[in-house]
Amino acid sequence: MIRFFNTLSGSLEEFRPLKEGEVRLYTCGPTVYDYPHIGNYRAYIFEDLLKRFLLLAGFKVIHVMNITDVDDKTIKGAARQGVSLQEYTAKYISAFFEDLKVLRIMPADIYPRATEHIPDMVRMVRGLLDRGYAYYKDGSVYFSIQKFPAYGRLAKIDLEELKAGARVDSDEYEKESVHDFALWKKAKEGEPFWETELGSGRPGWHIECSAMSTRYLGPSIDIHCGGIDNIFPHHENEIAQSEAYYGQKFVNYWLHCHHLVVEGEKMSKSRGNFYTLRDLLERGVDPVDLRFFLLSTHYRKMLNFTFDSLEQAKASRQRILDFVYELEHRTFAAGSASEVQSLAEKMLSNFREALADDLNISAALAALFEFIREINSRLSREQVKQDDSVAILRALAELDRVLAILPEKREDALSPELMEKIEQRQKARKEKNFALADALREELSQRGIILEDTKEGVRWKRIK
Ligand code: AMP
Ligand code: ZN
Repeated sequence: MIRFFNTLSGSLEEFRPLKEGEVRLYTCGPTVYDYPHIGNYRAYIFEDLLKRFLLLAGFKVIHVMNITDVDDKTIKGAARQGVSLQEYTAKYISAFFEDLKVLRIMPADIYPRATEHIPDMVRMVRGLLDRGYAYYKDGSVYFSIQKFPAYGRLAKIDLEELKAGARVDSDEYEKESVHDFALWKKAKEGEPFWETELGSGRPGWHIECSAMSTRYLGPSIDIHCGGIDNIFPHHENEIAQSEAYYGQKFVNYWLHCHHLVVEGEKMSKSRGNFYTLRDLLERGVDPVDLRFFLLSTHYRKMLNFTFDSLEQAKASRQRILDFVYELEHRTFAAGSASEVQSLAEKMLSNFREALADDLNISAALAALFEFIREINSRLSREQVKQDDSVAILRALAELDRVLAILPEKREDALSPELMEKIEQRQKARKEKNFALADALREELSQRGIILEDTKEGVRWKRIK
């Protein structure tokens, strides 16, 4: 059984997709007004973990992530630099895609952009006006939250205290100012606008996710994600718009990750604790260590970024890399030892089960490290054989479909002929036939393989 914590119900729920074997996933993407910071990547890596786990569990996943390329912040940024909105956002869009690659975040199936879906948004706003959920005021269109009794359910807000008809224009606002929100904003001097049947203007931020989620995934989907700051007002407003328009449930499972803070404080430019991925790469951070750091704390816990904790994550990852290296570069006696392969299977099933329990990554990694400890101890006692090492490496590759932290281009395994030569050399050494041992070592070296005799046995390396 798979279960997730659903923000809507505030409880753990068994996960059942609308269509068997298929998951429709929508994740709120970047507002491309600047380089994403590492907090944004916590959200995207949590979503990547979720998606990779669903794929491992055998689901087909259809994933849409929007790109917000028109909102208050992008418009302000473009105006400040005196360039068009498109020119301004293009730079950050390509930076975003580069970052996704280095962090090994699987690409979504579709990245719809707000500016390319204005007609979809206009159609929805028109429909909300026609059905009486929205109204005009001074050329802008607002959603009337009083007309939608379920408003506030996701963010757990009591509507009783609201003043009817108070309005808010900005794209982002606090819970304390729950108001009718803008669906369509009347054109303002010096701002980009579209001529549409609603009048000349531009969309509010929230309507884009309702319109684009429906365009690619249909009016009802399985999972919608974001960071906790998206719960209110963004996701609350998405529910109101979509359900008022379509008259059916918008999203079955809402999953939100908690924030990343830096040295215990909110990231902000003025505090000087604001890091983009680029900042960290410039300091020599390996992006895959950062990926491992970001994914190894449970998504519903606040995560405190410090350079010390990043170092700890790096060291933990190194333990896994060393283990893989050892298995790939040692020679083993033919055959299999009792138990080792079943330990590998057990580790994999514990790993899967932990993730099925609301992505319990701590328990999943504990299963992995326990396994590494156990196998290392067997390795030191020469209790691992050739078939076992193959099975262990296969299990680790399976697990890396979710973690994506192992080296991407691993050296090819040695051909059986070369393995045979290494074994012959070991035999020669045991028999004190050093001339033969040396000749074999020399032959291997001519063929690009160098040998290293360690306490635990012989290891091989390719000469670069
Ligand atoms: P934005 O570009 O601000 O719309 O944010 C993109 C995603 O990053 C959203 O899912 C946000 O909820 C998430 N996010 C923003 N700040 C943080 C943070 N400090 N920690 C975790 N997620 C965040
Ligand atoms: Zn969104």
